[in-house]
Amino acid sequence: MQVFEQVESEVRSYCRNWPTVFTTAKGSRIDDERGRSYIDFFAGAGSLNYGHNHPVLKEALLGYLAEDNVVHTLDAYSSAKRTFLETFRDVVLAPRNLDYKVQFPGPAGNNAVEAALKLVRKYTGRETVVSFTNGFHGMTLGALAVTGNSMKRGGAGVPLNNAATMPYDNYMDGQTPDFLWLRSLLEDSGSGLDQPAAVIVETVQGEGGINVASDAWLRGLQDLCREHDMLFIVDDIQMGCGRTGPFFSFERSGIYPDIVTLSKSLSGMGLPFALTLMKPHLDVWEPGEHNGTFRGFAPAFVTATAALETFWRDDEFTAGVDRDAAWLDAELTDIAASHAELGVSTRGRGLARGMAFEDPAHAGQVCQEAFANGLLMETSGAEDEVVKFLPPLTTSRADFEEGVAIVREAVATVAKEAAAKGSA
Ligand SMILES: *Cc1c(COP(=O)(O)O)cnc(C)c1O
Repeated sequence: MQVFEQVESEVRSYCRNWPTVFTTAKGSRIDDERGRSYIDFFAGAGSLNYGHNHPVLKEALLGYLAEDNVVHTLDAYSSAKRTFLETFRDVVLAPRNLDYKVQFPGPAGNNAVEAALKLVRKYTGRETVVSFTNGFHGMTLGALAVTGNSMKRGGAGVPLNNAATMPYDNYMDGQTPDFLWLRSLLEDSGSGLDQPAAVIVETVQGEGGINVASDAWLRGLQDLCREHDMLFIVDDIQMGCGRTGPFFSFERSGIYPDIVTLSKSLSGMGLPFALTLMKPHLDVWEPGEHNGTFRGFAPAFVTATAALETFWRDDEFTAGVDRDAAWLDAELTDIAASHAELGVSTRGRGLARGMAFEDPAHAGQVCQEAFANGLLMETSGAEDEVVKFLPPLTTSRADFEEGVAIVREAVATVAKEAAAKGSA
């Protein structure tokens, strides 16, 4: 383990909570070099919705490489890209009546967000983008400017401009009407808010603590965008690709965003891959105006295509996510209810679930305890007060049960320790 501490930058983070060295992984399990097997309810922060090394995806990738098919093409045409675009159009867009042009913005989620932000500014000629409290959109400067977390923003080292943060759903007291603040500013020429180019929002805030926007709130936001001539960006990087059930997390809310970003589970195997989708009239780019070396990573086209073919040709996969989500929600609610003394509450949509603790330290302790007992989970939220559950969507019921049993025991242990401290 020494080489990591000696050679790798202090910026490393997840490894600090999981002090071991991982070697192999399959499905919902990941193994370390000591031969220990962990259940993975972290799933690469939502990059492994179909589990580790899914056999169908892996076979497609190995077959592609074995035949010396091209790996890197910048954005030159390749047969792998053609097959991906055809499949994405036929399996994802057409059945949902979504008319989007597809931009390959570079391989990471932040590349997709930066492309979206540039595009709305170019299209409207305006600068300000409205974002929401506790939103997370990536660590590059443009994306950080629309991200809430003060620690992450602090790393920028320069002013983060041209963004205006507004209350997310349920941020206020639960009594204040939705969009009271944003609407007031938009309608008051003395408010000091420049006419925004766009809003950017997550339907469920992954890094921000599994905060869920209601369908009505999302529709209200879309209405407000139309009333005030703002473009509507949904950042579906973490909640897309089935995390909440349907392929896009916004499908059931009845909204039709102008721009959508996708990444994380898009390649299906954890390979870097991102897309920025835009309604066709917004496609005002000049050739090469937004560029990047890794926009033609064919192995990701291949595994992404295989994932769409395997999971998204019909509604069965979504139905399975719905079923597992209902089960997991019930289990976590039960665990929370059995530890009222800790002030635990649950939240989430689909298989993005959270367990919030009154004392933020308890969330971290639960994750540490779980790790010690063979389960990977991370915390999220501004104070790291939420234990975040992002199991692979392909997790078997047996693995779910094993993982949840570890959670139950971890919460009980933390409750016992807290009680002992309280009475000491
Ligand atoms: C992870 C994430 C990003 C950033 O993706 P990177 O690949 O880390 O740059 C942006 N938006 C959301 C909602 C994310 O979850």
